[in-house]
Amino acid sequence: MSEDGQRKGFWGTTLNKLKSVLAKTKEQVSEESQEGDNQELPTVEQSQAQAADEEATANQAQTQTHNNTATAVQAKSVRAVDEDYIEHLEERLIKADLGLATVDPLIQTLRKESRGKNWTSENVDVFLQREFSSLLNETPQSGLSFKAGTNVYLIVGVNGVGKTTSIGKLAFRFKSEGKKVLLAAGDTFRAAAESQLEIWSQRAGVDIVRLADGADPGAVVYQALQKARAEQYDVVLVDTAGRLHNKTNLMAELKKIRTVVEKNSEGMNVESLLVLDASTGQNGLQQAKVFSEVCGLTGVILTKLDGTAKGGVVFAIAKELSIPVKLIGLGEKMEDLRDFDSALFVQALF
Ligand code: GDP
Ligand code: MG
Repeated sequence: MSEDGQRKGFWGTTLNKLKSVLAKTKEQVSEESQEGDNQELPTVEQSQAQAADEEATANQAQTQTHNNTATAVQAKSVRAVDEDYIEHLEERLIKADLGLATVDPLIQTLRKESRGKNWTSENVDVFLQREFSSLLNETPQSGLSFKAGTNVYLIVGVNGVGKTTSIGKLAFRFKSEGKKVLLAAGDTFRAAAESQLEIWSQRAGVDIVRLADGADPGAVVYQALQKARAEQYDVVLVDTAGRLHNKTNLMAELKKIRTVVEKNSEGMNVESLLVLDASTGQNGLQQAKVFSEVCGLTGVILTKLDGTAKGGVVFAIAKELSIPVKLIGLGEKMEDLRDFDSALFVQALF
């Protein structure tokens, strides 16, 4: 999370956790999901197992072990790559929400590279890992920035994506690192939203600036920044509305909040983070473009990766938005917000 990329451990994502969270996305992008819908194709493993069967004479037991092993792995790997296979893969990648703009060139490259080479699905897995990594590396990775002095994190995004929850998780995280944390209840459109933030502030044991229901969110943010400066807070987390009477209103309000932040954050480190719900896949990209114009985004928090098969959207974000994914939401609990690590993410999908 700091610029030097420390903070692995608790806040870093472990491969096992990520694997279980990404299980559904993995089913889409890697070979295992072909089990069942492509059974008529013999696998190389099956042929080998059969050959081993026929040759088995002296050591029956050993051959048996070999067959069992072959059966166990045949669902995963080693299938000949033909046009059917490639078309099926293309379909799966689209279902995993990588988006056409990302899938099309990927499949073209695959056709070119695999042509005349007797590729198996294992070669394709290696190919995909390489391509996925290079997609993610197109946008320079960086963790959440944190500097000495006050750090302001403006959290924006449409209703229900997980803004308030992510703020609660971040508050808990900073607090447990010994930071002085202030929340700003800038979603004054719904009284429930402010109460929800207040509950998080109590849970995390941090302070909150909350004005009367329906107050001007700009005033909330102004007060929070004044307080942060006077009382030397390390962190200010600004919650915002995700829905107003209409989109124009929402954008006007966010612009105003943004201006208040700019005018009152001299000498502070400011990040503008868009929260996207992974389970909405490609729709999130459109939202991102709109918010980007108004808020000058510095990063994305991708929530609800748990339980969605659309985690492939992470590649589309990298390719089409050029905004780094900084944090990922892996569940509803306090500690279910982790640093995004592209290498680990790709590794968990295979
Ligand atoms: P907001 O309208 O953007 O502030 O969204 P909320 O923070 O109120 O969250 C909406 C719902 O999404 C709540 O029920 C959260 O518990 C849930 N949520 C947020 N982040 C995650 C996540 O990473 N995983 C899961 N499974 N649920 C999440
Ligand atoms: Mg909220």
